[in-house]
Amino acid sequence: MAAAQTNAVPATFDSEDNRPLVDTFGRVHRDLRISVTDRCNIRCFYCMPAGAVQFKPRSELLTFEEIERFVGVAASLGIEKLRLTGGEPLVRHELPALVGRLRRIAGIADIALTTNGILLADQAQALRDAGLNRLNISLDTLRPETFQKISRRDGLDQILEGIAVALRTGFDKIKLNAVAIKNLTEPDIVPLAQFARRHGLELRFIEYMPLDADGKWSDDQVLSGRQILRLLEAEFGPLVPLPVVDPSQPATDYRYTDHLATVGFINPVTQPFCADCNRLRLTAEGQVRNCLFSTVEWDARAVLRGGGSDDELRRLLRSCVAAKKAGHGINGDEFVKPQRAMFQIGG
Ligand code: SAM
Repeated sequence: MAAAQTNAVPATFDSEDNRPLVDTFGRVHRDLRISVTDRCNIRCFYCMPAGAVQFKPRSELLTFEEIERFVGVAASLGIEKLRLTGGEPLVRHELPALVGRLRRIAGIADIALTTNGILLADQAQALRDAGLNRLNISLDTLRPETFQKISRRDGLDQILEGIAVALRTGFDKIKLNAVAIKNLTEPDIVPLAQFARRHGLELRFIEYMPLDADGKWSDDQVLSGRQILRLLEAEFGPLVPLPVVDPSQPATDYRYTDHLATVGFINPVTQPFCADCNRLRLTAEGQVRNCLFSTVEWDARAVLRGGGSDDELRRLLRSCVAAKKAGHGINGDEFVKPQRAMFQIGG
């Protein structure tokens, strides 16, 4: 009898409270990136290996039900923005069905998707109908030979068709993401800006990060945001920095003086923005990460598949957030490159 009393924990103490996910540096986590697959239909050298790729067996990937449950728990702790990514999220079968499930979760205010756009023309309307708000489409070049050099596949025409269809579909916002590589994509900077201006798309240039599967990244391949800014100003005249509306957004945005369009720079290598990072990541096989460059993961799948309670998931999320470091430390002497490449984490 005495033992039973000792072990009995009143429900109020057993239940995790719903305080937001605040780390030891005061950053409140509102944003969750969900990788739905590690598979991809192209092989960009800055992300995936050149040779044979070992993808996770499908049985290891979280099911839609598991993702939905995890997001429900995360939403109870203040997560309100979701981004679906991969690998290439559009190769995951029935993705609009997942969007629909996530859309119905209380507290989720915004769902975005990052895609290479190759399969977008066929799926844009279904995604929009299911409740997808925003799209980021990756496009580093408009030159077919450079596209082939980067992605080691064809697909540029399908991407352009995907963009055209997406523009007609009526998303809240469509952004173009261009990874910039020194001695390769300098000739693409101005044409991409012209393309984005012509189509009313928000273009963002991303610095190349050490997350390639082949481990060949070197800092002399990084075409910095500052260098790109100079190339754009030489063509279009001065760019004017825009006030920061949301400190957690990774891009520094500018407006042109001769056009309504804006252009952004995501400079994780030369100007890390970790101080305002409010993002968590869930990998396709259910590991929670507090940073792209983290070398530690929290195994949500084990809880989900092991009969764990929602409170266990909440504790796991809190412990992941509590361990978040001040910054990724790419430029520090003690930087350790994560074992996983970008396609295995979810960009
Ligand atoms: N397949 C989708 C796509 O292409 O958008 C989603 C996943 S992809 C990993 C997400 C984004 O990460 C893309 O914009 C891609 O260009 C970017 N990316 C991949 N590897 C990168 C790296 N090493 N440095 C910077 N950006 C990278």
